[in-house]
Amino acid sequence: MPLDPALHARDLRTWHGSMPVTSRYTYGPANERFFRAIKEEARILGARCGGCGVTYVPGRLFCERCFDELADWIEVGPAGTIEAVTAVHLDLDGARLEPPALMALVRLDGAESVLYHRLSGVTAADAKIGLRVEAFFRPAEDRTGSILDIAGFRPLDVDGT
Ligand SMILES: [Zn+2]
Repeated sequence: MPLDPALHARDLRTWHGSMPVTSRYTYGPANERFFRAIKEEARILGARCGGCGVTYVPGRLFCERCFDELADWIEVGPAGTIEAVTAVHLDLDGARLEPPALMALVRLDGAESVLYHRLSGVTAADAKIGLRVEAFFRPAEDRTGSILDIAGFRPLDVDGT
């Protein structure tokens, strides 16, 4: 039945309840490899395209630029460079974060794509495009196969150590 075009969202009524629905998503072949390397080895893997030379992080099965199959997996990072940064002021429930969480797009050394993750050990004033950072990992016993097994990215010392 088509909706009445005069109906406005404020006129809708809602009721609360729960639905007994569960779902299970698999990582798929490429993400399985990427997340397993993080969880089991604290290494970040990318997939390099033999056709155009682009390295994607996370690795994937096919190059989105030239459509070649990506079969060459390489370790990237853990150091990288901030390409974009933002401050997040509200959590998923709308509660204010104090201080705001700093999030960045990091281009890991050896990769052309970026990884979105949180920053740590840096102030908003110092979190700038071009800042050199490195990934650091949760303790091995706490890793679950999540992107949060990378605890975050923190500034590298100026000399890169
Ligand atoms: Zn390619």
